[in-house]
Amino acid sequence: MNQKKLLYIETFGCQMNDRDSEIMRQLLANAFEPTELINDADAIIVNTCSIRGKAEQKAYSLLGALRKRKKEKPELIIAATGCVAQQEGAKMLSRMPHVNLVIGPQNIYQLPDLFVETQRQGKGLVATEMVKSFRIPPFLPSIQDGHPYKRFVTIMQGCNNFCTYCIVPFTRGREISRKPEDILAEVNHLAAGGVKEVTLLGQNVNSYGNDHPVASRTGFAALLRKVAEIKGIERIRFTTSNPNDLSLELMRCFAELDKLCPHFHLPVQSGSNTVLKRMNRKYTIEHYLEKVATLREFCPGIALTTDLIVGFPGETDMDFQATMALIEQVRYHSAFSFKYSNRPPARACDFPDPIPREEKERRLAVLQQRLQEITLERNMEYIHGIHRF
Ligand code: SF4
Repeated sequence: MNQKKLLYIETFGCQMNDRDSEIMRQLLANAFEPTELINDADAIIVNTCSIRGKAEQKAYSLLGALRKRKKEKPELIIAATGCVAQQEGAKMLSRMPHVNLVIGPQNIYQLPDLFVETQRQGKGLVATEMVKSFRIPPFLPSIQDGHPYKRFVTIMQGCNNFCTYCIVPFTRGREISRKPEDILAEVNHLAAGGVKEVTLLGQNVNSYGNDHPVASRTGFAALLRKVAEIKGIERIRFTTSNPNDLSLELMRCFAELDKLCPHFHLPVQSGSNTVLKRMNRKYTIEHYLEKVATLREFCPGIALTTDLIVGFPGETDMDFQATMALIEQVRYHSAFSFKYSNRPPARACDFPDPIPREEKERRLAVLQQRLQEITLERNMEYIHGIHRF
């Protein structure tokens, strides 16, 4: 019996990439078994992220380091997937001729065929075409390979919002929602396999289903209610959301669905309306705070987390102080915070008044210091019984 070959996957970036790596591992499971030892691998997949310059550099340096490995083992298959692969395409092959495959997020389902083809043709291949008619194929995850109780379930891909700092609409395309019946089949399959908690994934889950015909459309709140009916599932989570698309129906779910965990990740990015406008976030701070207040009415103990960017082109010290004032007002349980970095072809790359690196770093340090203090204060509330689980 043919010995299975060994597959090593290095995943950078978000939970969508984690889920895509699980899918790729499963798609290749007939011929490959996973290994944690990169030097033992017969095939290596580098699942890349391009949300910030740093993430892209990390992926390129790992791919670069594999040049030596390929010399030692010419039959080794090296594949680059994810958002940098989508963004770079054929450029990556010419820059890194030792890489066999460059595959975009929409094309990972062709992986087994592409593995065969690159070996048959003996040359590098690129699969990054993004098609409007793309549909995420129905896919039942393996129960054995993955966390026994908690799983990610991708419900959609892409984003239509075009925030001016963001590369996602260019690397993951327009919003494409999976059919509700495919998602429910996957959750039922996981529940039957003993999984208790599912996290529904998308770049902007709040607009789930908007690309489906109105007559047969299932919105995100309705999908959550259907998932909550599935026996065996005890906890439901989801990420991530653009506040502009946050509906009352969705907020009401936090009051009515016991299985929905009382946590909402609601990226605000900045506390300044001037900056939000230039980011094309489509909401004002007043609008955002109204939604936070409504959420807390529906679910008083809800934990709120967020994403924040400092140093966006043209951000004045007053704008930054508005962000500092916002975190005092909302008092997030935790937050991801970053220095702005150019992500071509996102529009903000051409905006005037870039903030000097030192000033970005100073603002980030001040922000993170206060965020950490607030997180500790929030956690102490659970110790002193101010919040009950
Ligand atoms: S909503 Fe999120 S994923 Fe979509 S463009 Fe804006 S930041 Fe990017």
